[in-house]
Amino acid sequence: MTDSKMPLPRHAVIREVGLRDGLQSIATVVPTERKCAWLRDAVAAGQTEIEVGSFVPPRLLPQMADTAQVLAYAKTLPGLFASVLVPNLRGAEQALEGEADLMILPLSASHAHSLANLRKTPDEVVAELGRIRAARDASGRKTLIEGGVGTAFGCTIQGPVEPSEVLRLMQALLDAGADRVSLADTVGYADPASVSRLFEQALRLAGERLFCGHFHDTRGLALANVHAALLLGIHRFDASLAGIGGCPHAPGASGNAATEDLAFMLAAMGIDTGLDIAALLALRERVAGWIAGEPTHGALWRAGLPKTFRAVATA
Ligand code: ZN
Repeated sequence: MTDSKMPLPRHAVIREVGLRDGLQSIATVVPTERKCAWLRDAVAAGQTEIEVGSFVPPRLLPQMADTAQVLAYAKTLPGLFASVLVPNLRGAEQALEGEADLMILPLSASHAHSLANLRKTPDEVVAELGRIRAARDASGRKTLIEGGVGTAFGCTIQGPVEPSEVLRLMQALLDAGADRVSLADTVGYADPASVSRLFEQALRLAGERLFCGHFHDTRGLALANVHAALLLGIHRFDASLAGIGGCPHAPGASGNAATEDLAFMLAAMGIDTGLDIAALLALRERVAGWIAGEPTHGALWRAGLPKTFRAVATA
């Protein structure tokens, strides 16, 4: 049972995924220098964890072709924990080579989505994680491995995804050698009640190794879903500046939770994120200019911070 008296976390981390989840979903290819400027300014605004790109073949995602260079730049920024997405062992080898702090292997709990997007069954992805773990251990690198269980709340192709299957795959990833696991609502099918139920069960299974919640705002519930997970003690969330990311199955739909809106919500609730929201809004404006014509989302940038707003002091 959920302990309804569990206090909210005092600190939370917003892991920026705009440079990966966001940029891979839009047609505009942002040049490397601008990605590096984004990283630099994000770190200056207080962001400490950023997913900088994806080691996928450039012919599939030209937007991510410069991930090795962007990662190399990220490694020069003091205090930044740089992660990359890796679809397979080949990508993981590049992540190890670039000494990423963390590599995230996505697994789709929906078999249909998994076959369509990764051309592998979920269990084949689990086996790949085992090979990635062996490669990591053999390399002597410190790169951590996160198994990201996506379409955990439902899928545009398959429809329902059974929670028991999500949990089975999460356990299998841990057994195969994942250091951490996370849950993602890839297509905006979650609601606060389903988030509560699944994260509670996942926490029982993975404990502190359940590391992150990833919520898309496809149907406007991303922040409500974050709140539901916060109440269970989850304190790391993926988000994307300007909410970029979209959904390949719903043209024009919003993307990830918007970093700046989430930062505002957490700060307003007294949860320290270490983020300078004014600096994030300034960076948002710059990034929106670079991707002019692409849909951007979020609410805070329209209205600005309330006059009564006081950010919590960093403890
Ligand atoms: Zn996503």
